[in-house]
Amino acid sequence: MDFTLNDEQTMIRTMCREFAEEEIKPHAEELDRTGQFPYEIVRKMAALGLLGLPFPEEYGGAGADFLSYCLALEEIGRGDASVGITMEAHTSLGATPFYLFGSEEQKQRYLTPLARGEHLWSFGLTEPNAGSDSGGTETHAEREGDVWRINGSKAFITNAGTEMSGGVTITAVTGRTADGHKAITNFIVPKGTPGYHIGAAYHKMGWKASDTRPLAFEDCLVPDEQRLGDQGDGFRQFMLILDLGRVAISALNVGLAQACFDEAQRYASERRQFGRPIVAFQAISFKLADMAMEIELARLMYYKAAWLHMQGLPFTKEASMAKLFSSETAKRCADQAVQIHGGYGFMDEYPVSRFWRNVKVHEIGEGTSEVQRQIIAKHL
Ligand SMILES: Cc1cc2nc3c(=O)[nH]c(=O)nc-3n(C[C@H](O)[C@H](O)[C@H](O)COP(=O)(O)OP(=O)(O)OC[C@H]3O[C@@H](n4cnc5c(N)ncnc54)[C@H](O)[C@@H]3O)c2cc1C
Repeated sequence: MDFTLNDEQTMIRTMCREFAEEEIKPHAEELDRTGQFPYEIVRKMAALGLLGLPFPEEYGGAGADFLSYCLALEEIGRGDASVGITMEAHTSLGATPFYLFGSEEQKQRYLTPLARGEHLWSFGLTEPNAGSDSGGTETHAEREGDVWRINGSKAFITNAGTEMSGGVTITAVTGRTADGHKAITNFIVPKGTPGYHIGAAYHKMGWKASDTRPLAFEDCLVPDEQRLGDQGDGFRQFMLILDLGRVAISALNVGLAQACFDEAQRYASERRQFGRPIVAFQAISFKLADMAMEIELARLMYYKAAWLHMQGLPFTKEASMAKLFSSETAKRCADQAVQIHGGYGFMDEYPVSRFWRNVKVHEIGEGTSEVQRQIIAKHL
């Protein structure tokens, strides 16, 4: 078993670590305070090829492997979770469906500009009445000749309402399967399509600089060429998208957990009580030891899930295990990082306060912890 990263993986990780240190971290507090979308940072990431890392060069991507993409996300997420989720939602949820299921023409038309980072793209699965039960989609599309008439709404959609947003791929019910279940099909809806309404951004507990909005579709007409893949294949498609997304989210979780550790270790060495740095107290150094151990384990879990995917082997269970463990690890690390900071950790001037608010959604997005446990249990 070889845990050595190859030259390209090491290079991408180093580049992203430096980018996060120099271009993201210095702005993270302000982004959180103002809730402004980080356009400048995202455009710089696009210029570095970070918005199309795992896609082939012929489609505007960097041609990196899936683990390199995850390593990049870990480092970007270590710099700031809002920037990290913007990159992850664009790549894993927005662009990947085109890569995996798009026709050659759709790849040229949509994937190429997305991989180059000219636009951001969203994936609209969640609805006001269909969250964990994502097959319970109520949005529906009726075929009228060569067009589809879409009606319905989506909730909590990332990257849909920025100046850079190009559109959204959504799930919609297009009929019934032979066994009576909803047949779901995915449709590409570019921004500006009549009947596609982008709601006002939510006010959130964390991830404040990422863009999250409700969407509505009112007699929204899209041509059949904007159907992604076969009719009725939507459920299978988003199950695979979510499996891949969970590995990517795990890398973000590890990045956030690592940021908690970094700040806690630094503070514990500087803060003095009873005449010595608090890291000299075993109660504090043991917290750091536990954090470091869990982070390493969570990291190995996403490496393994990514490796399985890259070998073409099943990875659903490992993706859910990695997502569940890494999000809970990040939560414990954020909690301990605040504890190590004492009262200062409760103050917004200290990054750990932001980490603590950001971490909660990591146990919710792309499948809650309860859903991950269900998936793992189903695969035992
Ligand atoms: C900031 C943010 C960004 C997001 N971005 C996107 C996006 O880009 N695209 C997208 O499609 N979605 C997005 N989501 C939606 C996210 O995936 C859902 O919020 C999540 O899947 C949970 O759905 P829900 O919020 O409707 O909760 P619900 O499904 O209503 O769950 C409520 C609670 O019940 C539990 N529960 C539900 N069913 C069961 C069960 N069978 N057994 C045990 N417990 C259960 C849940 O675990 C949870 O604790 C985003 C969410 C947030 C908060």
